[in-house]
Amino acid sequence: MSQERTDGDLRNTGLSLKHDREWDYELDRIIEAVEERDAEKVGLQFPEGLKRRGPAVADDLREHLPDDVTVLLSGQPCYGACDLDTYMMRRTDVFVHFGHSPMKESDKIIYVPLFSNVDVFPIMEQAREEQLADPEADPDVGLVTTAQHMNKFDEMREWLEERGYNVHTRRGDERLTHEGQVLGCNYASADVDADQMLYVGGGKFHPLGLAMEHPDKHVVIADPVNNVVTVADTEKFMKQRYGAVHRAMDAESWGVIFCTKIGQGRWDQAQEIVENNENAYLITMDEVTPDRLTNFGMDAYVNTGCPRITTDDGPQFKKPMLTPGEYEIAIGEKPLDSLEFDTFHGTW
Ligand code: SF4
Repeated sequence: MSQERTDGDLRNTGLSLKHDREWDYELDRIIEAVEERDAEKVGLQFPEGLKRRGPAVADDLREHLPDDVTVLLSGQPCYGACDLDTYMMRRTDVFVHFGHSPMKESDKIIYVPLFSNVDVFPIMEQAREEQLADPEADPDVGLVTTAQHMNKFDEMREWLEERGYNVHTRRGDERLTHEGQVLGCNYASADVDADQMLYVGGGKFHPLGLAMEHPDKHVVIADPVNNVVTVADTEKFMKQRYGAVHRAMDAESWGVIFCTKIGQGRWDQAQEIVENNENAYLITMDEVTPDRLTNFGMDAYVNTGCPRITTDDGPQFKKPMLTPGEYEIAIGEKPLDSLEFDTFHGTW
């Protein structure tokens, strides 16, 4: 990827645009692909938080594309690179997925990452002062972040090194594109030789998962979006999960969800559950919501799709919704203290 692209600044692309913008949507790359493929249809998919930018990007593309090219916006919900609009992908000549780094590269897909412009260093300084050990006492620190801040990752590492730390990073498994990148369902990049981890990014979900995956590590959250430093505390989260497991222990009927989103399918796991439990029924769906499950009337559900749905939205479901690992505990196959964060590996 060129430096020009990572800068998130379109002023140097030479395109004249209808809308002012500070982000680089890599329109030049999209226009080039349209020309190369003699494309008639261009599909644009944005994640939920960025959908409102879609019409302006479509406007600017339409200005530069021949009149007979149709630009489509995906209205499907989207929360990750696991969640490509495959309908749109099949029916367009150029398909662009914005806002996530690739889970799996493909000639069919143009990924445009859209990095955050937020300054991460003031909050890293606060995290260093308040929560990281002095490098004289413990110089080892692991560093992780999300795709949105990946463009600053090398600078973050240098910043810590300049302050005396040995920074430990690694690229996780094939589900992750970059060194130091974590997903809500995958923390393999945190598997480093350091007792303290610095997570730079918004929200608590990622560091909570990290802390559950690595209970021996001190996980410091430097959140530049909400401008707050905290330490990941899994207690409340664990209580909520134990509560769901307990409520599911008396369940007589189980709905086992197999998610049809391209990067969320865990067929073997789903099938194994129904094979071994005659009161379990396989339910296929893309978006997993409380409303869609109500009419099935099961006593409890197991979600083999995105673990964030189970844990973030769990309390909104009328019946207990468990991860595959929690299901094993609820039916007595595993002890209560084996409860772990549900992680997801591989692609498709
Ligand atoms: S499965 Fe869920 S947590 Fe994992 S990348 Fe997809 S949306 Fe994110």
